[in-house]
Amino acid sequence: AIEIIGLRKAFGANEVLRGIDFHVRAGEVVCVIGPSGSGKSTLLRCVNLLEEPTAGTVRVSGTEVTDPDVDIDAVRRRIGMVFQSFNLFPHLTALGNVAIAQRKVLRRDRAEAERIARENLERVGLADKVDAYPAQLSGGQQQRVAIARALAMGPEVMLFDEPTSALDPELVGDVLGVMRTLAEAGMTMLVVTHEMSFAREVADRVVFMDGGVVVEEGPASRVITDPQHERTRSFLARVL
Ligand code: ATP
Ligand code: MG
Repeated sequence: AIEIIGLRKAFGANEVLRGIDFHVRAGEVVCVIGPSGSGKSTLLRCVNLLEEPTAGTVRVSGTEVTDPDVDIDAVRRRIGMVFQSFNLFPHLTALGNVAIAQRKVLRRDRAEAERIARENLERVGLADKVDAYPAQLSGGQQQRVAIARALAMGPEVMLFDEPTSALDPELVGDVLGVMRTLAEAGMTMLVVTHEMSFAREVADRVVFMDGGVVVEEGPASRVITDPQHERTRSFLARVL
C-alpha cells in the first residue's frame, strides 16, 4: 500500500504540492489525472524520493519513506518506476538491460539475473526479443523492456508516469495491455496517465489533481463519467 498524508513540495517560492492526501491499498490501481503542471510527476517523484518532500508523510507497505533516517536505496528497491522515456542502455540487449540492476543493486549472480530477466521479458510479451538491442525495438517494445526491468527487482508497488505518452498511437495498446495484466495479477499501482479509457476500465479509483491539490477522488466510473467539480469537468471536456 501507499499512504500519502499532508504531502507538500515547494521549489523555492513555487508551491507545487500543497497538501496531498490519498492512499493506494495493496492490490489497488489508482490513476492520477490532471492538467500539465498540476504536480503529478512531482507527486510520484516524492513517493520514491527522487524529490525530497517539503512536508508530510509517505508510507510504502508500512515503511515511512519520509523518515529522515530511512535507507533511501532500500526504499527504492521496493518501488518500481516507469517513466515516459524508457532510458534503456543502448549498448545492452533487452536481456542485459533487465539483468543489470539486479546484478548491481541486488547482487544477483549473472545466471540468476538472466533467468529472472527472461521470465519478466516473457511476462511483458517479449520472449522473442531478449537478444535485441533498444535500437532494434519499437517504442512500445522498449517501454515493455523498461517495465520488465522494474518488475525484475521484485517491487512491492509500481509507479507509472505517463508510460504511453511518448509512443505512436498504434503502440500504446500493447503497453496498456501489459499494465492491465499486472493490475489483474494484483500489483499495487499508482499511474499518472492521460489514457481515460485505461483509467475507466482498470483503475479502482481516480484522483484528479489541479494546482497541487486533489480536487476530486473516487471510483473511476464516477470521477470520469460523473465528475462533481467544475475543474474536473472542464479538464475532462478537453481530454475526452
Ligand atoms: P505534465 O502533465 O506536464 O507532466 P505535471 O503535472 O507532471 O505536468 P510537474 O512536472 O510535477 O507537473 O511540475 C509541476 C510544477 O513543478 C511545474 O511548475 C514545474 O515547473 C515545477 N517543477 C517540477 N520539477 C521541478 C524542479 N526540479 N525544479 C523546479 N521546479 C520544478
Ligand atoms: Mg508530468
